[in-house]
Amino acid sequence: APALALRSVTAGYREATEPALVDVSLEIPRTGHVALVGPSGAGKTTVFSLLLRFIDPRTGRLELDGVPYEQLSIDDVRSRIAYVEQETPVIPGTVRENVLFRDDDASDHEAWEALEAVRLDQKIRAFPEGLDTAVADTILSGGERQRLAVARALVRRPGVLLLDEATAQLDGTTEAAIQKVIGEAARTGAVVTIAHRLSTILDADRIVVLDHGRIRDTGTHRELLARD
Ligand code: ADP
Ligand code: ADP
Repeated sequence: APALALRSVTAGYREATEPALVDVSLEIPRTGHVALVGPSGAGKTTVFSLLLRFIDPRTGRLELDGVPYEQLSIDDVRSRIAYVEQETPVIPGTVRENVLFRDDDASDHEAWEALEAVRLDQKIRAFPEGLDTAVADTILSGGERQRLAVARALVRRPGVLLLDEATAQLDGTTEAAIQKVIGEAARTGAVVTIAHRLSTILDADRIVVLDHGRIRDTGTHRELLARD
């Protein structure tokens, strides 16, 4: 069975409005990188909201490792899926504490490894929220907060990594480090990105083009280009 599947899913936010997704069927393999692309409002975030069970479908169903979501608890689902959202929520405390906050079992070494992967290991003692008395190198920039969010997801060694890169504020070097992290995660698990950067789209094993709540096309970037 695929890691995740949407089977003829229709979903929306209010009975009266147009559904945000219409009859969407999508399988996410156990390994590899699937990139969701499409204009604003296409339904990309709604796919993530369904996968994380923040919302339920109106019709159709979702599956995790072939098991329908109705047979799973919210914890079953969220313990298997790590999510890097647009806005990085930070808790008061150090970077280290922030990395470990969704995974109490991870060791300091694992936290350091995850931070090293995103090139944030130098900042392990920094305070993402900032401190009144902070000197410059103990606080985090927007891009660093985003890398913190990626490290927080990685430390859980998730079977599935969902990554919304919409507000990515990364410079070239850091972007390359994150691309590498995504590539490595996709070798051992499933990675789904809401992809905005061209480099992410080109790196993906499969691209899913959403528009007005429907899947318009899917394939490798070569296949999509050949069809244009
Ligand atoms: P994308 O991530 O591709 O920009 P979304 O999944 O966020 O698209 O949105 C799909 C559709 O659902 C849009 O028409 C959007 O306005 C609507 N929508 C998204 N979130 C909400 C919400 N919380 N309440 C009402 N409508 C929403
Ligand atoms: P808790 O994290 O304490 O279980 P919730 O499940 O209610 O709390 O989630 C609170 C917020 O944390 C959600 O609105 C969402 O933004 C985020 N969240 C929940 N589950 C995950 C997850 N698996 N990965 C990343 N963020 C998550």
